[in-house]
Amino acid sequence: MNSNVHQGHKARKRFGQNFLHDDYVIDQIVDAIYPTDDFVMVEIGPGLGALTGPVCERIKKLNVVELDRDLAARLASHPFLKDKLNIHQADAMKFDFTQLREPGKKLKIFGNLPYNISTQLMFHLFEFAADVEDMHFMLQKEVVNRLAAGPGSKTYGRLSVMAQYYCQVVPVLEVGPEAFKPAPKVDSAVVKLLPYATPPYPVSDIACLSRITADAFGKRRKTIRNSLSHLFSADQLSELGLDAGARPEQLTLAQYVTLANALAQRKE
Ligand code: SAM
Repeated sequence: MNSNVHQGHKARKRFGQNFLHDDYVIDQIVDAIYPTDDFVMVEIGPGLGALTGPVCERIKKLNVVELDRDLAARLASHPFLKDKLNIHQADAMKFDFTQLREPGKKLKIFGNLPYNISTQLMFHLFEFAADVEDMHFMLQKEVVNRLAAGPGSKTYGRLSVMAQYYCQVVPVLEVGPEAFKPAPKVDSAVVKLLPYATPPYPVSDIACLSRITADAFGKRRKTIRNSLSHLFSADQLSELGLDAGARPEQLTLAQYVTLANALAQRKE
């Protein structure tokens, strides 16, 4: 059989479809998610239901957000799953997760994400951190490394700073390509993201942190004196206790927050 065809469905590359078929890996992920009806459960990209099925064995209701119309329709007529699913045929990158709020319940979000959009999707999901208990995602291993990276590391970048502003980042499990059909060209990993009730280093305006990290890491090889010169003079950087000759990957989250709050104060 064509390796791109799984359970009678031809995998669509443009939707990042790599379906999980390794039961051991699936069990490990479902155990890590710890599904319960105490939370609003949400799956992004249920696909053919590799995680959806085992999760639904443990709970009464699951919201799923699936972009592929055919797969959403397949789930809607699935004999065992259809009564448990709230199917949202939608683009998760544009989806307003606050519409799933229920009184007294936070959201638990999980998914084996389409790798072609995973970074952008992370940034979208961070906006809902205040409504979320935790998130478990299968991602490219390289993206999990970036989410978890600290200053000084080659993989430390804007994604690391923004993720760690909102969440505690816990890598859970590494998964090889053979666990998927079709097999992706890269290694994968599962990560757990635990949003902080109160961020350890709060910013007064998140847009300022977003802008500063974009500008600083946008010119990764430049010193912050150069990449942030339109926002801060070298003197202002030293007044904030920062080395103007530092490169963006040398600054800690706390230092980015210092810069963001200084910028926000000036705007007030
Ligand atoms: N959960 C299934 C599994 O583990 O076998 C499928 C995972 S597959 C890597 C990614 C899934 O996300 C596919 O079902 C794909 O159609 C869906 N998808 C792709 N882009 C999406 C988007 N923007 N919003 C929601 N779902 C999307």
